[in-house]
Amino acid sequence: MKYNRILLKLSGEALMGRQQYGIDAERLMQYAEEVRAVAQLGVQVAVVIGGGNIFRGVQAEAFGLDRVQGDYMGMLATVINSMALQSALEKLGIPTRLLSGVTIQRVCEPYIRRRALRHLEKGRVVIFGAGIGSPYFTTDSAASLRAIEVEADVVLKGTRVDGIYTADPEKDPSATRFPQITFDEVMEKNLNVMDMTAFTLCKENNLPIIVFDMNKEGNLLKLVQGETVGTLVTM
Ligand code: UDP
Repeated sequence: MKYNRILLKLSGEALMGRQQYGIDAERLMQYAEEVRAVAQLGVQVAVVIGGGNIFRGVQAEAFGLDRVQGDYMGMLATVINSMALQSALEKLGIPTRLLSGVTIQRVCEPYIRRRALRHLEKGRVVIFGAGIGSPYFTTDSAASLRAIEVEADVVLKGTRVDGIYTADPEKDPSATRFPQITFDEVMEKNLNVMDMTAFTLCKENNLPIIVFDMNKEGNLLKLVQGETVGTLVTM
């Protein structure tokens, strides 16, 4: 196995599947199956899932809400997604724990680093809900931070695009994909991998990132087995 401990970042938006809002049951099960395939091999898996399919802090203004309130709503949205993923995984017989950055004691454990490490060592899939628990951050930042804290080998950013391109491939058909790129090149070329806070955290802590297509069956498994999938960002 190339990686022993991974942090998988899934966007909330991807959970919508073909829907306009919320959670697509089929997509949810598909993601759970992908996670099961790697967890069953003994890879320790931590997951951070976004909330964009339900609410994002940046939408707050349009609702006449203040930003901080909106961000907390976004964080709670990630808890809803995390609970859904937790149930989907458990349906497949994978033990999980949901640890939240915002305390919601009836539905999940509070985030405690040592506890997260213990769960991972015991082979439980650990889902980190509520981002880092503070407004003005994103779940990408939470993914980077938690990955560093639990000493994950890599952040796997599962998207609907199969890597990092010279330009947005959904807008520019001439865009080409980088199989590998350095942190500095990403910054020089001003490429959009993660928000700057999240990206800088990875760079400063020498934590590699792989951007890959999570919707392609078997990609996650290929990645942990060392196959080249998506784009690898390293020093
Ligand atoms: N959020 C936050 N702090 C965090 C993580 C998330 O305030 O540490 C809020 C923020 O408003 C964000 C929303 O939660 O817009 C949902 O997360 P995100 O946009 O990262 O989800 P994704 O785009 O991955 O679906």
